[in-house]
Amino acid sequence: MLRGQMMDRPLMISSLIEYAALYHGDQEIVTRTIEGPIHRYGYRDALARSKRLANALQRLGVGRGDRVATLAWNSQRHLELYFGVSGLGAVLHTINPRLFPDQIAYIANHAEDVYLFVDLTFLPLIEALAPKLKSIKAFVILTDAEHMPPSRLERTLCYETLLAEASADFVWPEFDEAAASSLCYTSGTTGNPKGVIYSHRSTVLHSWGACMPDALDLSSSEVILPVVPMFHANAWGLAYAAPMCGAKLVFPGAKLDGASLLELIERERVTLLAGVPTVWLALLGHLAETKKGLGAVRSIVIGGAAAPRSMIDTFQRQYGVNVLHAWGMTEMSPLGVVNRLLPKHAVASNEQRLDVQVKQGRALYGVELKIVDDDGKELPRDGKAFGHLLVRGPWTANGYFKGEGVRLGAGEWFDTGDVATLDGDGYMHITDRAKDVIKSGGEWISSIEIENLAVGHPAVAEACVIGVPHPKWDERPLLLVVKRSGATVSREEMLAFLTPKLAKWWLPDDVIFVPELPHTATGKLLKSKLREDYRLHRLPAS
Ligand code: ADP
Repeated sequence: MLRGQMMDRPLMISSLIEYAALYHGDQEIVTRTIEGPIHRYGYRDALARSKRLANALQRLGVGRGDRVATLAWNSQRHLELYFGVSGLGAVLHTINPRLFPDQIAYIANHAEDVYLFVDLTFLPLIEALAPKLKSIKAFVILTDAEHMPPSRLERTLCYETLLAEASADFVWPEFDEAAASSLCYTSGTTGNPKGVIYSHRSTVLHSWGACMPDALDLSSSEVILPVVPMFHANAWGLAYAAPMCGAKLVFPGAKLDGASLLELIERERVTLLAGVPTVWLALLGHLAETKKGLGAVRSIVIGGAAAPRSMIDTFQRQYGVNVLHAWGMTEMSPLGVVNRLLPKHAVASNEQRLDVQVKQGRALYGVELKIVDDDGKELPRDGKAFGHLLVRGPWTANGYFKGEGVRLGAGEWFDTGDVATLDGDGYMHITDRAKDVIKSGGEWISSIEIENLAVGHPAVAEACVIGVPHPKWDERPLLLVVKRSGATVSREEMLAFLTPKLAKWWLPDDVIFVPELPHTATGKLLKSKLREDYRLHRLPAS
């Protein structure tokens, strides 16, 4: 082989914050702190404090490959941990505080976390869990000495005191880019959560992918407000991609309600928002009540669950914001596809554009996609055939921490657990999660599609469709609806609304109105629980 003669510089996470400090040192990172006031500083300060943290961690005995956990909201301190921990060569384990306490204990023990950095909000949770946390040497409270609360916890340290005592002189080590950098457990709706363990290389490559114009199109003129938490798939990679391109970051801390978000959006002149549909329902509700607009926001990334057509339309037509529907998963760092219209759609009607935008989008360079049938045979990319969605690429996991679950060899594909179509232009459309798809008379019904139509009804706040056992058809769809406050709608009206929009055999057999729906730790409908709850629901004879 004739080798290329190019430098073999490792792709290191520390280089992202170094770059941001050098070229965008004054670019701001703004946080609504847990203590209350707004905190602001620049990338130069973030770098200096990440270095102090790295020194402090070293003094605490944290070494290469050690797992350091966080239970924290989106904040400047969490960002410092992203770079201080991984930059040192240790592994940042972001724990989702919305998991059941027993699951938190399980994953902290499974990961063998040596320290846990925790926001004031989650102190009571940790106090209750502490006796079960076997490997943790100390709990570092993410606050200053003045705000250190009295705590029953033994072994507590104060974050700001640690940093104040450490030097800002630190040279990031260089090591193999394949080394583990961070760890994120999937929510484990079935069985125990499994750890996805990213590398420096995968993280840097994913950041490049995210910044690309046809992906999130990030640059130093962007002001990004990630509502998606830094404990959920690395805030979709934004905490790394923003410093890579020098974008301003606005962190909402613990306040994710519509009013608090809007205040930050207006004051900081936010241009890009990112989060799951449920968060946007709340924001849209607040906008409707206050009759306010979205200020300087240009784009809003909606992912994690399907973006309903009505939501896309409202954001675009009423608020003049471009919706970027996106799909991915923890195992994919997480970005897989982003929906941007193609030049040919410029002449399309609003409805035709929405037909495209309800799809999840087209693959980023670096993500290969295909759909296969039950026997693994590839299906056509015709927008009609749907099958198991498989993926491959340098930021997709080939297995889980400590060898659990699948282990893929070189060149093998990862089964996403989603069922999808791919059309001739490359747009991927999720039909359902394989376990949520409703099997009726040997055919499949997409629960997502019915839900998205149902939320288009003005009286519906949230909708969920599940399959319930049926003696003749195997399963039939049941629609559960949460009404908007003060709104009224009957079962018959709901069915009449859906009838012209659905194939007759897709029409739900029954509609039930419920006060609320259960969600997973990542804000998705907890369908496994609903299926269990409604297993014995008797559908009206039709
Ligand atoms: P968890 O499984 O822990 O809730 P993930 O973020 O890893 O968290 O979930 C990934 C899954 O979420 C995908 O496999 C898919 O089923 C679903 N998902 C993500 N984005 C979308 C989207 N835009 N439309 C429909 N489903 C989505």
